[in-house]
Amino acid sequence: MKTMNVAIDGPAGAGKSTLARAAAKELGFYYVDTGAIYRAVGYHMWMMGIGPKDADGICRFLDDVNLSVEYDDDGMQHMILNGKDVTDEIRTPLMSSYASGVSAQACVRDFLLDMQRELARRHNVVMDGRDIATVVLPNADVKIFLTALPEIRAKRRFAELQAKGEKTTLEKVLSDMKARDKQDSTRTVAPLRCAPDAVK
Ligand code: C5P
Repeated sequence: MKTMNVAIDGPAGAGKSTLARAAAKELGFYYVDTGAIYRAVGYHMWMMGIGPKDADGICRFLDDVNLSVEYDDDGMQHMILNGKDVTDEIRTPLMSSYASGVSAQACVRDFLLDMQRELARRHNVVMDGRDIATVVLPNADVKIFLTALPEIRAKRRFAELQAKGEKTTLEKVLSDMKARDKQDSTRTVAPLRCAPDAVK
């Protein structure tokens, strides 16, 4: 039976996950946070001492990455990396920048493509990320591109980090976010783009 797929793309801090989570709950679909999948790969590389731009090291160490996505009773997604739940560990500013670095490597994107498509093939999903409507699920039933001014997005992200007790400043969050947006939208493989048929 064909599943229903909703694709939501956009830059960091635009509110994709808030929208996707609420939509998934309303529709009774799974929410797939693909950023968390890239973060888990970044976390593995960091643990192995591989830099976020070390293309050779990243592609080599990918063989050791065993990833799965699990859901708890509240529908919350957990990332399991080599048997360990790393859901909390991947939510730091350092892992944001690691995820952005490793996600620019074609070997990483190829490695994760089937996993994402398989989730959407098996379940009705609301999936969010950067290339969902353009690459992962080009035939998604609904495509949304969500964005907002960098200053607004940085304020949201800053508030989230503060709530977690993370010591940072709004200026730092804004400059990190701009650097990540630039890296995500200018990379050669699957850059952040609005699909021509997406609702903006
Ligand atoms: O969405 P989130 O901020 O958690 O994503 C972390 C990073 O993972 C992004 O900055 C981006 O580089 C990468 N990513 C991606 N493609 C996706 C989802 C995330 O390249 N579909």
